[in-house]
Order: sequence, then structure tokens, then C-alpha cells
Amino acid sequence: AKQLGRNTHQFFASEMNVKLQERLSLENELRCALARNELQLHYQPRVETQSGRIVAVEALLRWHSPTRGWVSPGTFIPIAEDSGLILSLGTWILKTACRQNRLWQEAGLPPIRMAVNLSVHQLRQDNFGALVGDILAETQLDAASLELEVTESLMMDNMQQSIDTLQALGDRGITLALDDFGTGYSSLSYLRRFPIDTLKIDQSFVQNVLSDVGDAAITKTIIALAQNLQLNITAEGVETQEQFEFIKSQGCDEVQGFYFSRPILADHLTDLLQNGANL
Ligand code: C2E
Ligand code: CA
Ligand code: CA
Ligand code: CA
Repeated sequence: AKQLGRNTHQFFASEMNVKLQERLSLENELRCALARNELQLHYQPRVETQSGRIVAVEALLRWHSPTRGWVSPGTFIPIAEDSGLILSLGTWILKTACRQNRLWQEAGLPPIRMAVNLSVHQLRQDNFGALVGDILAETQLDAASLELEVTESLMMDNMQQSIDTLQALGDRGITLALDDFGTGYSSLSYLRRFPIDTLKIDQSFVQNVLSDVGDAAITKTIIALAQNLQLNITAEGVETQEQFEFIKSQGCDEVQGFYFSRPILADHLTDLLQNGANL
């Protein structure tokens, strides 16, 4: 039994080693990826439910590695967070997204908001508000054209600090959205304390609105909640016309999902905006 125990132990140890090696090598590759231009932002349109107009886009990070091909953000964002890389990466994302929105404005295209996802570590940076202010100044983007998406889990520990930082961002005129709403440890009492403008209903509810009465009820309730709190409400993960009709009938302000468009390259979005596409 002793012998077996040791073998089992060695087996797990070597398996863990392989995982650790893999993680370390991903981390190293990610470190170089920015300098080697392997990272890009794609932009997914967000559509005003009533008019069908594109009123915002969400910037989504993409990594094309020469050896691995496309690596999903679900894989590399956590590594960037654990290694601290997310800070420099996050600054690059913010700058790139703001600059892109400014370019669209300069080209005379219909104005849209640029929504950028934030990681907890970014929000916890000293003077994050000032950093964002500097980026807006450098890229000459007005604060109202920037929206920052945060998740509830992100704010749970150190809540007062998070609230203060969000408040400072909001005071600058930046729009704040609570992402993946309904999935975290949401508590309605927190909702009143967070200085947010927009709720984004998580896609897991939206995807089942037609097949699951529970998810339909939750979706309706979240939309009504947002309306009563006078928050803007966005549904994400809308994939079919039927889902869209349901969401629309509930009075949701904005929608996002593959039914309208996947995340696309900036040039492609320029074409859509130029042609005044109603999605
Ligand atoms: P998220 O912020 O909830 O982003 C929405 C995700 O849903 C995106 O996945 C998007 O491509 C996908 N999506 C949009 N519409 C649909 C739809 O109709 N159906 C389905 N099935 N999926 C849809 P993506 O790009 O793989 O990103 C995954 C997550 O990675 C994001 O979730 C976000 O948490 C994180 N992420 C992505 N880009 C960034 C970034 O620049 N910074 C940070 N901190 N996190 C990011
Ligand atoms: Ca998001
Ligand atoms: Ca506000
Ligand atoms: Ca989301």
C-alpha cells in the first residue's frame, strides 16, 4: 500500500508539473504577444432595441498565437490576471479602444459608446480614475463615449474601495455597466450602493428565455428591476429572432448577440457604421 501511495503521489506530482509548465509557457508567450502584435481587439455591436441602430460596441480581446492559433480569452485572461500582466494589458486595451472610437468620430460616423471590460486588478490600481482620465486626454475621447463593464464578483471584497473608484469614474462622466448580472452573488442591497448606469443581463438567462420558464421569469424581473431603478438595461447573448422579440417585448433598452453580429474587426465595423446598418 505504501508503494502504491508513493506512485500515486508521483503521478499527481508529474501531472501537476505538466499543468504548471503549460501555464508558465502560456504566461511567457502572452508576455511577448503584445510586443509582437498578436493581440487585437474585436468589436461587437450593441443595438438599440427600438431603432435597431448601433449605439455602442463592446471591445473583446483576441489573441492569435503563431504556434497555438486562436487562444480564447477564457484561457488567457485568468493567466494575465494571476501574473499581473493584466495591468499593462488592460491599459493597452483601454488606449486601443478609446483611440478606435475617436477615429470613428473623426471619420464623421454616427457616435457610439465604446464598452471595455475591466478586471478586478485594474480597478484596484492606485489612481485608476486618473489613469483613465489620462487615456481619455491622450486619445481625445470624451468621457461620455466610454463605458466600463465590471462584474459583481469583482467588487465583493474591498467593496467600499471599489465603490469609491467607480464613483470617481462616474463623476468624470464615464458610463458604468454591471456585467453578467444575475450570476454572481448578487444582492439587491448592493445594487443600490453601486454607482452604475447599466445592467447587463447575463447571456445564460437570455439563451433559455423561450425554453425555460424560470429563466424567462428571471429575465423579465431583471428588466423590470432595472426600469424601476432607472438603470439602462442591456441583454447579451441574443442569438435568435424569437429571443430578440421576447426581450424587446419586455422593454429592454439595448441588445447584443450573434443574432445581430459576432465580434468583428474595426474595419468591418466602420463599414457597418458607414452604411448606417440597422441590425
Ligand atoms: P463577457 O464580457 O461576458 O463577453 C461576452 C462574451 O460572449 C464574449 O466572449 C462574446 O464573444 C460572447 N458572445 C457575444 N454574443 C454572443 C452570443 O450571441 N452567443 C454566445 N454564445 N456568445 C456570445 P469572449 O470574447 O470569448 O470573451 C469571454 C470573456 O473574456 C468576456 O466575457 C470577458 O469576461 C473576458 N474578456 C474578453 N475580452 C476582455 C478584455 O479586453 N478585458 C478583460 N478584462 N476581459 C475580457
Ligand atoms: Ca462584458
Ligand atoms: Ca453615473
Ligand atoms: Ca457578460
